[in-house]
Amino acid sequence: MVVTWDGADGVLSGEVAGWALDSATDAIIVIDGEGLVRAWNRACVDLFGFTKEYAVGRDVDFMIPPRLRDGHHRGFTSAMERGALASDGAARRTKSLRADGGTVYIDMTFAMLHDDRGTAIGAVAVARPASDRDTPTHGRKRYRGQLVDVTFDSALCNHNGQCVRNMPEVFDTSKRPWINPEAAESPADAERLRTTVFNCPTGALQILAPDAPDDDASAG
Ligand code: SF4
Repeated sequence: MVVTWDGADGVLSGEVAGWALDSATDAIIVIDGEGLVRAWNRACVDLFGFTKEYAVGRDVDFMIPPRLRDGHHRGFTSAMERGALASDGAARRTKSLRADGGTVYIDMTFAMLHDDRGTAIGAVAVARPASDRDTPTHGRKRYRGQLVDVTFDSALCNHNGQCVRNMPEVFDTSKRPWINPEAAESPADAERLRTTVFNCPTGALQILAPDAPDDDASAG
């Protein structure tokens, strides 16, 4: 078999690029500007269980847990508008849905995809399972408030500081304890706290009703 390595423009031929994607051991997802999956390599099938036929052409929401979708949409829309990521490109710990109905913790990097004129046309995500060393312990600590309790699993936190920026009166790493749900005094504050917790991208934060038992600390 004769392999045509590159086309007239000197870049890999589409066929070779496809083989390269499928030979990679990391899961590689290419998303267009509308958030639709355009490439889903073999490692994606192994990691997430969704077939290429299912994933390609579908909104990437199918692999994002519902409570993380708003945060994803905001970040993706603003990155497409600016043509650049807000983050430093470092791997982020997050949780993804699997085809079998379960979830998997992954470390994921993102990069913007630009055309040859520099216009952002989508994004590339590269994911691998969170290493054993970093596997969440689910050793959750509970922080009590008047209206709502918050639990925190430090093994899941990727220290992006989102909670601190969104609600500094509750999340303040210079204080001990660093989470103080008591500062959410009104129903409106409690609602803002719930939203902040729901938008935690890794699931490190969770909400617990004040009357829930301690052994229910993973709920919610
Ligand atoms: S939002 Fe979640 S992952 Fe980010 S710093 Fe807060 S607890 Fe950690």
